[in-house]
Order: sequence, then C-alpha cells, then structure tokens
Amino acid sequence: MSARQPPFDSTPTAPAAAVAASPVDALRAENDALRLALERLPHGLSMFDGDDRLLLANRRYREIWDLPEALMRAGTPFAAIMAATRGRETAASRAALPAPGTEGTRRREWRMDDGRTIEVVVSRLADGRCVALHEDVTDQRRAQERIAYLARHDALTGLPNRMVLREELGRMFVRNARGEDLALLLLDLDQFKAVNDSFGHPTGDLLLREVAARLQACARGTDIVARLGGDEFAVLQCGSAQPTASSETARRIIAALAQPFDLGGLQVHVGTSVGIAVAPFDGDEPDALLKNADLALYRAKGDGRGTMRYFEPEMDQRAQSRRLMETELRHALAAGQFVLEYQPLVRLDEERVAGVEALLRWQHPQRGRVPPGAFIPLAEDTGLIVPIGRWVLGQACRDALRWPSTVRVAVNVSAAQFRNGLLLRDVVQALDASGLAPERLEIEITESVMLREPAQALALLRQLRERGVRVAMDDFGTGYSSLSTLHSFPFDRIKIDRSFVRDLASSDDAQSIVRAVAGLGRNLGMATTIEGVETDAQLAIARREGCSEVQGYLYSRPRPADEIASFVESVEAAQRARAAQGVPGV
Ligand code: C2E
Ligand code: MG
Ligand code: MG
Repeated sequence: MSARQPPFDSTPTAPAAAVAASPVDALRAENDALRLALERLPHGLSMFDGDDRLLLANRRYREIWDLPEALMRAGTPFAAIMAATRGRETAASRAALPAPGTEGTRRREWRMDDGRTIEVVVSRLADGRCVALHEDVTDQRRAQERIAYLARHDALTGLPNRMVLREELGRMFVRNARGEDLALLLLDLDQFKAVNDSFGHPTGDLLLREVAARLQACARGTDIVARLGGDEFAVLQCGSAQPTASSETARRIIAALAQPFDLGGLQVHVGTSVGIAVAPFDGDEPDALLKNADLALYRAKGDGRGTMRYFEPEMDQRAQSRRLMETELRHALAAGQFVLEYQPLVRLDEERVAGVEALLRWQHPQRGRVPPGAFIPLAEDTGLIVPIGRWVLGQACRDALRWPSTVRVAVNVSAAQFRNGLLLRDVVQALDASGLAPERLEIEITESVMLREPAQALALLRQLRERGVRVAMDDFGTGYSSLSTLHSFPFDRIKIDRSFVRDLASSDDAQSIVRAVAGLGRNLGMATTIEGVETDAQLAIARREGCSEVQGYLYSRPRPADEIASFVESVEAAQRARAAQGVPGV
C-alpha cells in the first residue's frame, strides 16, 4: 500500500518545531504506530468507503493479490482491483463486497490458478465502510484435504476405501431405487499370506500396489475399484448390462492376476477368486448386496483358485446354518457335549492291540451324535479346534491310564493347532496332568500340516519327539507330495488312507501302492497301518502286502473308553486260543 494513503499519511501537516506534547504530535505518533502495526500484520487488510473506493490497504494485501502499486492509491474503485485479479482465480466465487447497506460479515475462499487458496473475511460497517482481512490459507487447506483424502482412501494403493465404496453404493441405490444394472464384485488374493510370510511386508505391499494397478486396468471407466483392507478388493459396476458385464470383468481380473508379478526382481504367482452380487435380485440395499457378494466370494474360494461365483440364495441358508453351528460349537466344550471313542489298531504279526485312535464325537442335544467330519472343518476355520484339541489330548491321556500299559493312544491334531505353537504346551500339560508315559501317546498329523509351514511344523515335531511322544502320518497317499513328506521326518507310523483299502480287491494299482508304502515303511523303520479294513479279503491282502497293523470295522468300530480294556483282553484271549491250537493269526 502506498505511503500516500491519507488515513495514516505520516507527512507532517504541522511545523516540525511543534512541541512534542501537542495534540497533533500525539495524533501523528498514534498514526505511525497504527501504520507500523498494519504493515506488520501477517494478514492482508483493506478498507473501502461506502462507495466502494479504497480507503487504505497494507503491503500484505498487495502481495496476496499481486496488485500493481498504482492501484494502491486511495480512491481506487473496488471494481478496478477486481478487474486486476480477474482471470487468476479458478473458482467462480469472486469475493464481492457485501452490498452497501447490508451490514454484516461474509467469509469467502478464492482458489487461484497458481494453486493458492485465499480466504477473505469482509465486514460492512454501519457507516457503509467495508473492512476485509485476506489470508493465504493454502497450507492449511492442503493439510485438511490430505486428512480428508486419507480418511477416504487406502494410503498404500490410493484406492477408495470401504467407507467410500459403501457411500457410493448408497448413492447408486438412491439414484436408482432398485439398483438395476448394479453389480458388486468382491475378490481376495489366493496366496497373499504366503507372499507376506515368505518375502516380508515390503514385498506384500509391492504386490498389493501392483494388484491395484491391474484391477484398475481391468475395470471400465465408470467402475469404482476399492481396497477393503488386507488383500480384499472390490469393483462396483454401474450402468452396464448385468450379469454380462460383471462376468466379463471378473474373467479379465482372474486372468490378469494369474499372470506372474515381478516384485523388485522377485517373480511371484498369486491368483484370485471373485464373488459377485447383482442388484436387485441379490440385494436391494447396499448392505444386503455387500453381504451376499461376500458369501459368493466365500464360496468361490471354497471352489478352488481362480474361480468366480455369483451369489445364490442357498449360500445364505448355508451361511446361516454355519453361523448357528458355530454358536453351538462355542458352547459345546463348556457344556460337556464332546465324547471320545477309541478304535483299536491290531498288529498282524501276533494279533495284539497295539493301540487305539481317539475319535471325537459331538453329542448334540438336538442333532444327536455329530461325526467329526461335520464339525471339525468349522472348528478349524474358527480357531475353536485349539481349545477342543486341548480337551481331546487331556481326555485321551486320562482314559489311556485305565487300559493295559501296552496300549498306546493316538490323537488327531489339525494344522490349525500347529500354527500358534501351543500344541507342545498342550501335549506336555496333558501328559503331566495325567501322568501318562509319553511313549504311550501318539500324535497323528496329516500332510496339510507339513505343507503349510514346514519349518515350523518340523521344529514342533522334533520337540514332541524329544519328549518321547510318537508321531504318525495320517491319511497317507491323499496329499500330492507324499513321498517327500516321509523323508522330511522320521515318523513312527504311516497310516495308509482308507481310500486305498476300498480299492484293494479290485485294483492292481491300489495293491502296488500299498505294497510300495509297506516296503518303504520297513526300510525307513516306520510301522504301516492300513485304515478302513472291513472284509477278510482286504485283511488278507494287507497282510500279504506287508502292512504291520490294521484298523477297521472288521476288528472293531470305535468304542467307548470303558470297553477298551475288555476288547484288548478278548483279542489276546483269541490269540492265545489260536496259539494253543497251533493256528497263526487270522
Ligand atoms: P481319521 O483320523 O482318518 O480317522 C479314521 C476314520 O475312519 C474315523 O472316522 C473312523 O471311524 C473311520 N473308520 C475306521 N475304520 C473304518 C472302516 O472300516 N470303514 C469305514 N468306512 N470307516 C472307518 P471318524 O471318526 O468319522 O473321523 C473322521 C476324521 O475326523 C478322522 O479321520 C480325523 O481326521 C478327524 N478327527 C476325528 N477326531 C479328531 C480329533 O479329535 N481332532 C482332530 N483334529 N480331528 C479328528
Ligand atoms: Mg487319524
Ligand atoms: Mg486317517
């Protein structure tokens, strides 16, 4: 602003010799002080008279608006100043002064084309004058925008987050009450956890960014791609003919994510499963559509890698009964609804009971006796298998104390029990609490345990072995890397899966496999048990092919704990009788 501005013009208007204490001097001193204050003000300040002509303005005002010095003269019309700034602000919100006669304060923000944001607070005074404060709020606004952006976007991929997806869905339903031609695709990566665990989080992050980029390339211009968290993504599709558009998009996504990823020189393969819900059939409001797309995704994942599934109403029924069962399962342990039965394993050389296998049953108050196949997968998914497995160990050890000391007890454990490392503690506790000799306890694991986290699993098996506990490989032959698994750990026993026994009488292949495994077991010093022997013919073949033990209905179905001692005794009595008659085993 110009020094010629009259309101605080410091040009002496009185003789310099005027005495310091004169009213004129006092006024001048006050004027100087005011001008100094005004010039130091971090805000721009301007004042116009009732005719909107400039009365005064400070330097900051001029800087903020980048005005020519000439316009800073008192008397410059507001319109001329506006004309000088015209074209440099981007928003339409030109900060006009409140009309004369309208008293009050108005706040305006100007977006300048150089990226700055200027805030102007204008007050019309009662006498018609106008005072305005001008502030460059660019940094503040940027920080606020960043915070608002972060609340709505995923920081890693820059994609909109779950909140935005939910809002957009809501908006689309409002625009189109039935949500016609609206499809929601949910997907998650098949191998994300493995990548994260094996190569570390920075690599996992790289993967997620690359996935986000591929998804955006697969989506149509009007689709919304969002990251819902973890490795879960969504594509919201509107205005295209459904279900054609969504199935095309899903196919493109599955193909795109099946291509290898190059993550900083590391080649990684993942894949994805896609669940799709289409409005209005699969949900006529946002939450229903989200829930059903999720159910479809759950199903797609269950069907194997690289699949897509559309929602079907029966998925909802299944989910409901699953939820009900989960609730019941949570209570079953405390309610004492679990029971163990024991199925004997009989040695073929001298026909004695070598041990028994503990098999879990759920005595459900309404459903009756539920077999393990019907609830163990759910217990594994929900983590309930950990406390349930702990109970099984404890109970099996206690029961075993009531049988002859030659009888071992085998307990099945799930991969989920290996994951948190608690298994060792549970085993030790079950042995300590019961006082059972560790050699009488055998842990049965399946190959899935060895496949998921082999190093961790092996370490745990070794620790069990150090304590004297035996380890058996269950359901052998059903995994796809069976032979290599056998070499990774010195198992005490191999249990050949029931499916081979079923085919023994009819299939030469099954017989050769049983023979090969029995031979391998002998060479590696492992006992071989063949499971599911129901007929004398199967038993004869098992014996001929060199298995050391059999387990199956032919000898005994699973029995309650208190029948085991007498069963063991009856087998031994029969053996003694045969020996007395000079007849070898069956
Ligand atoms: P598995 O460990 O392979 O157990 C053997 C299964 O074969 C048992 O079924 C047994 O009743 C059945 N079986 C035995 N002999 C015959 C036969 O001659 N013919 C036929 N058709 N079947 C026979 P079950 O009791 O239904 O157990 C199924 C599976 O559930 C078990 O397979 C095991 O993987 C799992 N399981 C059982 N109890 C537990 C447990 O306490 N914890 C865990 N994690 N899993 C368990
Ligand atoms: Mg078993
Ligand atoms: Mg088995």
